[in-house]
Amino acid sequence: MRLLVIGSGGREHALCWALRRENPSATIYCAPGNPGTAEVATNIPIPADDIDRIADAADMHGIDLTIIGPEVPLAMGLADRLRAEGRLVVGPNAGAARIEASKAFSKELMEAAGIPTASSRTFTELEPALAWVAQHAEPLVVKASGLAAGKGAIVCATRAEASAAVTSMLGDNAFGDAGSVVVIESFLKGEEVSVLAITNGRDVALLPAAQDHKRIGEGDTGPNTGGMGAYAPVSIATPTLLERTKREVIAPCLAELARRGTPFSGVLYAGLMVDEAGNPSVVEFNCRLGDPETQVVLPLVRGGLTRAFEAIGRGDGPPPLDIGDEFAVTTVLASEGYPDKPRKGQQVSLPASAPEGAMIFHAGTTRDAEGVLRVSGGRVFAVTGVGRTFAEAQARSRAAAELVEFEGKVLRRDIGWREAARLGS
Ligand code: AMP
Repeated sequence: MRLLVIGSGGREHALCWALRRENPSATIYCAPGNPGTAEVATNIPIPADDIDRIADAADMHGIDLTIIGPEVPLAMGLADRLRAEGRLVVGPNAGAARIEASKAFSKELMEAAGIPTASSRTFTELEPALAWVAQHAEPLVVKASGLAAGKGAIVCATRAEASAAVTSMLGDNAFGDAGSVVVIESFLKGEEVSVLAITNGRDVALLPAAQDHKRIGEGDTGPNTGGMGAYAPVSIATPTLLERTKREVIAPCLAELARRGTPFSGVLYAGLMVDEAGNPSVVEFNCRLGDPETQVVLPLVRGGLTRAFEAIGRGDGPPPLDIGDEFAVTTVLASEGYPDKPRKGQQVSLPASAPEGAMIFHAGTTRDAEGVLRVSGGRVFAVTGVGRTFAEAQARSRAAAELVEFEGKVLRRDIGWREAARLGS
């Protein structure tokens, strides 16, 4: 079997690691990959958004199945291109990737399909948007509609903050094209849970539910980031909640996309807000595996991931995954200045091997000409601990995170604090 993973972050290292664990003798490529994926796969130095060259590489290497990690190549039509050339792909075509690439589209689709979500309005002009903010209840949320690397949603405590956010997007072009359409929505109270469904557009296999920590600071404070850590499973994601999510969120979303002639095949990610009564509303859909959720959920899959990917690649329903009863926590190691201006270039020192029950996934690292490992991105590593209890997983993640050294290392030591409080640990 010849597999190709597209992307270069912690998610892709975790994907390559999980595929290698299931397929010790498979040929696995990663484009462009990173120094971590190089340990379990063969890197191909082609950027994830260079569709022509990726299509050529898939041809040259006789790839059986391509798994596309990031949203940008999906939105650009990489899956369309590979499918048009007769290849099996995990990832939606561009039409279905709009569920993530356009929040305005996603909100409109949810409304049409009767999927619970925050009430919202979409604007392209500054004045009407400001007028809408002026009479909106507080708090409220202002979102750049387009792709903004997870940083385009601004939760505003006051109308004044929301006006400033709207002005930065529609007036000052601070988010470029991504902010030329703005969604203003009401604030949802509750706790967030990410549900990831491997799907052929009709049948689904769920990965363990995860909870991400988007804010930079401990106690969930400070600006939103791409994600500072995550844990899985989440105890509030009960079997009842997951059944409801399948029935009330995932199935109607897939049905509506199919009805519109853009069926979804790949991993549909539903970011939910669960209120005190246990009712889910959708905060966002993503059209791919989450980062850092992938780094926390894949180590919990004991088998069946490759089989599920192959099945949906062919258009078949995915067989259920073999998920054990362990727990996982991942701690992101960022570089000082993240998310705005992360410091880069520092030398990294890693332990000779990851301690028991821990995986050190590379996210923003590179090797210089001398082979020295250096920081090359805002999120540098995701360090996952797996254990028989949540507390053991958390302790393993934290302990391994301390063993990775580089100047300006920033991490949260409270990943999973809500679960820890619930469990009294
Ligand atoms: P998004 O890019 O839409 O996923 O938003 C990023 C983050 O902003 C989410 O993970 C939430 O923490 C927060 N957020 C977005 N929309 C809402 C909302 N309507 N109510 C409360 N929090 C929100």
